[in-house]
Amino acid sequence: MATSWDKRSAKGLAKLQDELVRDQVQHVVGAFSPYWKARLAQLGTKPTAIDGAAALTKIPAVGERDVSPAGDPAGMAALVLQATEGGFALHAQGPTLRRALRLRATRRDAYRRLVERDTKPTTYVWSGLGFHYPLASTRGDLDAIARAGSRLWKVLGLTGDDALLSAWPAGSSTEHTALYYAALASGSPALFPGEQLRDVVAAARLAPPTVLAAPSARAAEVVASMASGGASLDRLRTVLLVGAASAAERAAVQEALGRAEVAVLGVHAPAGARVLWAECRQGGADAGLHTYPDLDLVQLVDAETGEARARDATDGGEVVLTQLGLRGTAMMRWRTGDLVDGGVDVTPCPGCGRRVPRLHGLRRGALVLMSDDGRALDLRSLAGALSGRSDLTDWRVVIRGRDRDGRGQVIVHLAAPGDAGEAVVGAAADIRALAGLLPTQLVAADNGLGDFGVDGSAYLALTPRILRRS
Ligand SMILES: [Zn+2]
Repeated sequence: MATSWDKRSAKGLAKLQDELVRDQVQHVVGAFSPYWKARLAQLGTKPTAIDGAAALTKIPAVGERDVSPAGDPAGMAALVLQATEGGFALHAQGPTLRRALRLRATRRDAYRRLVERDTKPTTYVWSGLGFHYPLASTRGDLDAIARAGSRLWKVLGLTGDDALLSAWPAGSSTEHTALYYAALASGSPALFPGEQLRDVVAAARLAPPTVLAAPSARAAEVVASMASGGASLDRLRTVLLVGAASAAERAAVQEALGRAEVAVLGVHAPAGARVLWAECRQGGADAGLHTYPDLDLVQLVDAETGEARARDATDGGEVVLTQLGLRGTAMMRWRTGDLVDGGVDVTPCPGCGRRVPRLHGLRRGALVLMSDDGRALDLRSLAGALSGRSDLTDWRVVIRGRDRDGRGQVIVHLAAPGDAGEAVVGAAADIRALAGLLPTQLVAADNGLGDFGVDGSAYLALTPRILRRS
């Protein structure tokens, strides 16, 4: 009997992921994704050279700006797998292929359904940080998402007896789709009234939930509105904070609930992901987000340079996802913009005992800032532009609220031993080309960064060189 998804030894897990990476690169992504076919050729490598997770780190991680530099969502179509019937026959796994060949001879329509299950994108969600783009799934992917949903319920300690009320916007998003399929796969009644408080409260009065899911930033408000709007909270035993909740958001929900026996657990899908990771009921926030090792390979890169972190590195970094066994949009070595503390934790969970990679201290989308007019400043592109300039000996990005009206400011300090003025002009040109948007201020000094007088204790270091006022 196959080992359960959450019980493999560290060695068994590594072996499984190596096999799945090989299959994904050689028979799925490398064979059918126009972007990755061209990119691998450009890197001078072949799908067969990627024989596991370690070899995969040699492929530079990419984000949406790498695939579609102008920020045009249509450009992301280059990632979507374009399989033909011939390609299916070449790359499908043995049992599937044998079944398909049998059907082709006898039942042409059933054969077509089987091929399309793996090759035809049928469902889309919108994702992305810098700009929004559609993420395609096949019929087969939806089965995998439903399977992950059934696991999600178990990690959260929920059963078919639980009734879900979701205050997450009821649109095409990874989060909504994952919650919808999780409830469906687990046999839980579920209501999705959308994000309007009035509608959420009305739904709660109609069918008092045992589980409430809400965006982490709004969950306290949703709970308070339910209480003041006459919805009973007596049956509620779990609140799901969707989107990597902060400690303050958790505390606010606990206070609004006023009852300690309700479990407040985080669930999160990074940008580009198709499944929701969760904190386990037994371990809570301290145990971190539990991932699905047969669906996602989680690796870390240095957020400033994009360089791969060693597998056992513990100094944090940006989360990079490679989706395993999923078709549709080929998300491989995908930069999520999420930062984590420590490394990818593969020790057994101290709470639930599951042996799956876990992530701690995740900060959602920390590397992409939105301006007031909805434009994005991607700090990864900014850091890349600065790291690439030979006239700079050091640099620093400081993110803070403007004193006058609290609006965000991004200030870049440059150490330019040569001509400081020229360095500012050159850096600005590079940043505009790579990041699309200029920071609020660029300042250079010719004798190091010391003159700028930044009090490090007042800031949270997102990376060694990117500081945010805490
Ligand atoms: Zn756990």
